Amino acid sequence: MSASESWQRLRNALLDMACTPFTDPDAVRERLLRTDAAALGVARVSLWLFEPGHAAIVCTALYEPGKGMSKPGTRIAAEVAPIYFQTLQGLLTLAAEDARRDPRTREFEQSYLAPLGIGAMLDVPVRLFGDMVGLLCHEHVGGPRTWSDSERIFAAATGVLCSQTMEFEQLQKAERDREQAMFYDRLTGLPNRALFLDRLAQAARGEGAALLVLDIHGFGEIVEAYGHDMGDALLRETALRMATSGSSDCVGRIGNDEFALLLPGEHAAAGATRKAWQLQEAMLQPMMFAGQSLQAGFSIGLVPSIRHYQQAADALRDAVIALNAATRAGRNCIEIFREGMDEPVRQRLALEADIRRGMVAAEFCFHLQPVFSTTGEMQGAEALLRWQHPERGLLAPVEFLAVAEDAGLLHELQWPLLGSLCATLANWRERCAPDFQMGLNISPTQLALPYFPDELVALLASSGLPAGAIVAEITENTLLANEGSDAPAIARLASAGVAISLDDFGTGFASITHMAELPLAMVKIDRTFVARAVGDPRYAAIISGLVDLAHALSLRVVAEGVETEEQRGLLAGYGCDLLQGYHFGRPLPLSEFAARWLD
Ligand code: C2E
Ligand code: CA
Ligand code: CA
Repeated sequence: MSASESWQRLRNALLDMACTPFTDPDAVRERLLRTDAAALGVARVSLWLFEPGHAAIVCTALYEPGKGMSKPGTRIAAEVAPIYFQTLQGLLTLAAEDARRDPRTREFEQSYLAPLGIGAMLDVPVRLFGDMVGLLCHEHVGGPRTWSDSERIFAAATGVLCSQTMEFEQLQKAERDREQAMFYDRLTGLPNRALFLDRLAQAARGEGAALLVLDIHGFGEIVEAYGHDMGDALLRETALRMATSGSSDCVGRIGNDEFALLLPGEHAAAGATRKAWQLQEAMLQPMMFAGQSLQAGFSIGLVPSIRHYQQAADALRDAVIALNAATRAGRNCIEIFREGMDEPVRQRLALEADIRRGMVAAEFCFHLQPVFSTTGEMQGAEALLRWQHPERGLLAPVEFLAVAEDAGLLHELQWPLLGSLCATLANWRERCAPDFQMGLNISPTQLALPYFPDELVALLASSGLPAGAIVAEITENTLLANEGSDAPAIARLASAGVAISLDDFGTGFASITHMAELPLAMVKIDRTFVARAVGDPRYAAIISGLVDLAHALSLRVVAEGVETEEQRGLLAGYGCDLLQGYHFGRPLPLSEFAARWLD
C-alpha cells in the first residue's frame, strides 16, 4: 500500500470516528477502539486510566479484533516501571518499535509484554478538560514494528477523540446530577415537589388517582429533642415506608416533613380511606434508630380523586387543607378533603388581613368600664379594646382578639393606644380623680416580649404617672400558655410598682398556687362565679372562701360581671373590695366615660 493510500485509509477511519453520534458512551468507545484497531492493524487497543496520584495505571477497556471488548483491569504500578511513568509525564506519543528492548517499556517485559506476546507499542495521552488522565495504548503482537508518521498522527488524533468521548460522558453525568438535584430530594431520594406535581398532572390526565399527603407530628420537637441526625433518619424511614407501602409507584417529598403519594386508578372515598388506614398502620410500627425506639405520629389528608382538577397544584393544595384539618383534629388522624373545608382558614386569614388594615386606619380604641368600691365610689376603670369597623360597626374583642393574638399582632395593636390612654389618665388624676386606677389587660404574647415590662414602665414615667396608676390584668390562661416563664416579667412590673391583678380568677387549674407565688395586688373573680352566686349556694361558698383566702394574703378582691342589685349585695356581703359590671356601668368611649363618671 502506498503512503498516500495508507494515509487515505487512516483519514477515512478518523472521519468515521469523528462523525459517530454521541449516544451511549460505552457503544461510542467500542466503535472508536474497533475502528482504531482495524485502521492501525494492531492486535490490541486499550484505554488505561491513572489511579489517583498517578501511582498506577489500570486497563479499563480493551478491544481485540475477533474477541471484542473486555475490561481486564490489569494494573501496572509506578514503582514497577519508573522510567515508563517518567516518560508518561508530558507525553505526546510514546512509540516503542521494539518494546521489549526499548528502555522506556522493557521494565514490564517479563510481567506484561512477554506473556501477551507484545512486540511494539504506540501510546498516546488521554486528557480530561486538559489534564492527562490516562492513555490509549496500541499494541502490536509479534516482533518489533515500525510506526509511520501518519500512524503516529492518527493514533494521537484517536487519543483526542477518546478524550472527547470521556469529556462528553462527564458532561452528561453532570447534567444527570443536576437534574437529580433539581427534581429529587437529596435526603430521601424521592421526587421533590416539582417532579411530584408533574407526575400528579400526568396521573390526572391519565388513569386518575387518589392523592394522599402525610405529615409527621411534631417533627420540629423531635429534632429539638433528639437532634438533626435523628430527624433525618426519621424522614428517610418515613420515605422508605411510604415507597414500600405497595400501593403506589409515586411518592414525593413535598415539604420539610410532608410527603405525598399517588394511589393510581379511580378510587371511591371509602377505598382510598382504607388504603390510607393501611398506610397509617405501616407508618405507626415503631421505628428503631441507633438502638433508640421512636414512635412518631402521622396525620394524613386525602383527595379521593384528582381527575376533576385542572391544575395539579390545586389537588395538592386541597390534600394539604385536609391534612391540616387532620393535624388540628389530633394525632394520627385521617381527613378527606371536602369543599369548604378551608373556609375557617380563609376566614381567619381574611380577618387577619382586615385587622392589619384596621390598625393602619386607626380603627381600634379603648372603651372604659368603671370599677366601684362597695360603698359606691368609683375607683377606676378597666380599659377594653374595641374595633370601630367601617362596615361591621363596633366590635367587641370576641370578634377579633384571638386572631390578632395568634397572628402576634395584639401588642402592636394595643401599644399605640396606650400613649393617649396614659395621657388621659394623667389628666384625670391631676384634675379630679387622684387615685384613679386603670386596669389594662395584658396578653400572653405581650407578656412574653422581653422588652414589654420596661417599655410599659417607661411609658408610665414619661406620661407622668406613678406605676401604681395601672393595674396589669393577667389571666390564668396567660400564665398557662407561657408555662410559668412569665414570672420574671411579672416580677419586673410588680417591683416597678405596677399593681398585678389575677384576672378570670378561679377558671384556671392553679389559681391558689398562683395566688401564693406571684407578687399580686388583687384577684378578679371570674364572672361565671358571680353569675352563679345568686341561687347556687355552692358558688356562693366558693366566693366567700376565695375572698377570705385573698384577704389572708393581703390581696384585694374584685368581682366582675355584676349585673344585678342582688349580686351586688351578696358580693359586698362576702367582703369583695371592688365591683365591676353592667349593674354599675357598661364600657364607654373615653369621652363619654369622662362625661358620665368624672364631670
Ligand atoms: P375581661 O378582662 O374578663 O373583661 C371583662 C369583660 O366582661 C368585658 O368584655 C366586659 O365588657 C364584660 N363585662 C363587663 N361587665 C359585664 C357584665 O356585667 N356582664 C357581662 N356579661 N359582661 C360584662 P369585653 O370588653 O368583650 O372583653 C372581653 C375580653 O377581651 C376581656 O375579658 C379581656 O380578656 C379581653 N380584652 C379586652 N381588651 C383587651 C386588651 O386590651 N388586651 C387584652 N390582652 N385583652 C383584652
Ligand atoms: Ca380583664
Ligand atoms: Ca375577667
